[in-house]
Amino acid sequence: MAKPEIKMSLKYRLLFYFGGFAFAALSYIVGVWAYGLESASWGDILLYESLMKNLGYSLTSHWPSLTVWVFVCVVIAAVIGYLFDREVYYRLRAEERANIDGVTEIYNHRHFQERLEAEIERAERYGRTVSLILLDLDYFKLFNDNWGHQQGDKALKWFAGICKQSIRNMDVLARYGGEEFVVILPETGFTAALEVAERIRQSAEKMSAPEFGKNSRITASAGVATFPDHAKSKHSLILCADAALYSAKQRGRNRSMIYDESCSMLHHISTNHVGALLASEDFSALEALATVIDGRDKYTRGHSRSVMEISLAIGEKAGMSEEELETLKSASLLHDLGKSGTPEEVLDKKTLDGSERMQIENHPYLGSQILRRVQEMSSILPGVRHHHERYDGKGYPSGLAGNDIPLIARIIAIADSYDAMTNHRPYRDAMSHEEAVAELKKCSGKQFDPELVEMFLGMISESKGKAA
Ligand code: GH3
Ligand code: MG
Ligand code: MG
Repeated sequence: MAKPEIKMSLKYRLLFYFGGFAFAALSYIVGVWAYGLESASWGDILLYESLMKNLGYSLTSHWPSLTVWVFVCVVIAAVIGYLFDREVYYRLRAEERANIDGVTEIYNHRHFQERLEAEIERAERYGRTVSLILLDLDYFKLFNDNWGHQQGDKALKWFAGICKQSIRNMDVLARYGGEEFVVILPETGFTAALEVAERIRQSAEKMSAPEFGKNSRITASAGVATFPDHAKSKHSLILCADAALYSAKQRGRNRSMIYDESCSMLHHISTNHVGALLASEDFSALEALATVIDGRDKYTRGHSRSVMEISLAIGEKAGMSEEELETLKSASLLHDLGKSGTPEEVLDKKTLDGSERMQIENHPYLGSQILRRVQEMSSILPGVRHHHERYDGKGYPSGLAGNDIPLIARIIAIADSYDAMTNHRPYRDAMSHEEAVAELKKCSGKQFDPELVEMFLGMISESKGKAA
């Protein structure tokens, strides 16, 4: 890893010395010149002669005074240069310090985010790859509980040292937070990145016992993801590495995993992480998030994307503006955001008891609670919160009826139900298109907005007519 270092600005110092010398020489000559001007009578030749005489005389007979003057000027310049140099030194040091984590003395989260952004930009420009390794110490809470926080801090610093030894100068090592570390590997594919992750993991496993004693071994799990193979943006790359790390933990810890789709299946999203993703306003991050949400339930893969496509088609037909369509696009893609907080066992169940049903039915509310904290996403909140309201007012979470239900939520309700009906669910088989249409007609005016149902069915028969 490139060690943060502060370079003394020798260049500037030399410049100041030279500046002092030049000033002394110039001011001396100008002084003599001015004296010559004063003592000469007017007339071109006389003036010229007098100036040259004064200059020649001064330079030969006043040589010591010129030397003293140069010396004084150079000393003054050197003092100014030194002060300037110190200023530059402290500024650079403060900048470096702001990027360094106090406990581990490696880069901090903020610097990591900046560097990853820059590396991805560069990789995009030159068509290269960047890999990310996310490392998390295993059972570190237990280590702290057993050996104390101070020993815990020592272990974090020791682990940072282990990482440093296993990476190249161009790689960037940082503390992601808590007992989590990240390595950015520019121009590295996932196979090579996995080798680095394994090297770190194996070194930690081998060297922790001699360092901390046989009973306090430290191991780490790692998740590897690569741009652009697994993700197309900074946030989705972090999310993929996080999903791979979670998968490594699920498979027993002390191992490294490369991201693949099965990782998303296992991934439990923390609401903090979701907040950062949503605030990024990066649509590919929202797509990655939707894939992770769908992946948590094996029956709903691709569901969010389908709901988005159907919702957009209805929205266009309903004459929504560009801006409204943008909102509808994000809201429909993230309509199940709240399911990130529903346990996977409940999502996969065929029959639900009262409390499990409550957990499922809580997802629109939970989704809106997550969005409430992200100002950039306030426009999609009504769509996420109310997509399970019913036209007759018997839905949840607010029991809104008719046109009191926001339009985007009424649209998503139809798209969501149609996609769910025509796909397999744990509690029933997939319906045919005709059966789903019959169901929508039956529920029109009760569960769904009748005008929108009519519009949607009209749209389907139009597209079927075109296809025939
Ligand atoms: P897992 O294998 O699932 O990662 O288990 P874990 O115990 O490592 O994970 P968990 O997230 O439950 O706990 C992380 C612990 O890391 C909690 C806290 O005690 C410890 N930790 C976080 N930051 C610091 C720190 O700056 N210093 C010390 N000493 N401990 C920290
Ligand atoms: Mg952790
Ligand atoms: Mg941990």
